Amino acid sequence: MTTTAFIGLGAMGYPMAAHLSRHAAEHGGAALVWNRTASKAHKHAAEHGSRVASLSELAQADVILSCLPTSASVDEMIGRLEGQLRPGTLWIDCTSGHPDAARTQRTRLAAHGVRFLDAPVSGGTSGAQQGTLTVMLGGPADEVEEARAALPFAAKVVHVGDTGAGFAVKAINNVLLAVNLWAAGEGLAALAGLGVNVSAALDVINTSSGRSNATENLIPQRVVSRQFPVTFTLGLLAKDIGIALDVVHAAKGSAPVLAQTGALYDAAARNVGTDVDHTAALQFVERMNAREIR
Ligand code: NDP
Repeated sequence: MTTTAFIGLGAMGYPMAAHLSRHAAEHGGAALVWNRTASKAHKHAAEHGSRVASLSELAQADVILSCLPTSASVDEMIGRLEGQLRPGTLWIDCTSGHPDAARTQRTRLAAHGVRFLDAPVSGGTSGAQQGTLTVMLGGPADEVEEARAALPFAAKVVHVGDTGAGFAVKAINNVLLAVNLWAAGEGLAALAGLGVNVSAALDVINTSSGRSNATENLIPQRVVSRQFPVTFTLGLLAKDIGIALDVVHAAKGSAPVLAQTGALYDAAARNVGTDVDHTAALQFVERMNAREIR
C-alpha cells in the first residue's frame, strides 16, 4: 500500500489533494494531508476523506507532494522534516519554484536518501478541480517514470529535462502569459479610447491571429466583466516573471521584452497590490490610459 502525503492546501493544493484522496480510495492507498494552518487540513479530511498527518507521519510517506508559494517555503518544509525523513521517499514538488533551488534541494534531500523532482503544474484552479493539469517534470528519467503514478490530478505529464528544467519551463510559460495579458490590455485600451466596443473587438481577435488565453478567457471573464476573481495572485505571477528573468540570465540570453515585462508587473503590483488576481495588473494599464477595458 502506497502512502502519499500532500503539503500545502492552498488554491491549487486543496483540489489537487482531493484527487489524491479519491485515487487512494480507489487503489487501496493512503492520502495524508498537512497544512501550515491546520484548520484547512481538517476541512479537507472532512470533505475528501484524506487523513490529517503529523510532521513525523508526513516524513515517513512513500511519496511527498508539495505545492507552496515559493522555493523558500519548500526549504522551510524540508527543514521541518529533515531529521525524520525515510530513505527511498520520492518528493515531488509542484510549487512554481526556482531551478537553482531545485538543484540545491535535490542534493540536500539526497543526503537522507530522498529523491527530489521539480514538478510544477499549469491549468489553474479549474484544472486542479477537474484533474486536467499539465505537469512538467525535471529529474532523472527512471524517477520521472515512478512519479507518473502519483499525479492523479494531471491529464498530461511531460518530462522536460534534468533537475530544474520543470521550474524553468514553468517560469517561461508564465512570463508568456504575462506578456500576452499585458499586450492585449494595451491594445484593447487603445480600441476603447477610439470608442470601439471591447467585446466586439475580442470577438474578432479570438478568431484571428492575435488571440491568446488572455483574449479568449482571462480578459472577457475577469477584466471586461469587472470580476477579477482571485485564483492566482499578481504576487505569484510577479515571482514567476522574476524566475524567468533569472533563467534568461543563466542562459546568457537576450530578452528585452521579458525584462520590460518584469518591470511593468513590478510597477503594477506596487500600484494595485500583490494579493489581487493577476488579471488586475490590467487595472494599472487602465490607469495609464485613463479608461477601463470594457
Ligand atoms: P496559495 O497562496 O493559495 O496557497 C499557498 C499554500 O502554501 C497554503 O496552503 C499555505 O498555507 C502554504 N504556505 C505558505 N507559506 C508556507 C510556508 N512557509 N510553510 C508551509 N506552508 C506554507 O497559493 P497557490 O495554491 O495559488 O499557489 C501554490 C503554487 O502553485 C505557487 O508556486 C504558484 O505560483 C503555483 N501555481 C498557482 C496557480 C494558480 O492558479 N493559483 C496555477 C499554477 C501554479 P496557509 O494555509 O497556512 O497559508
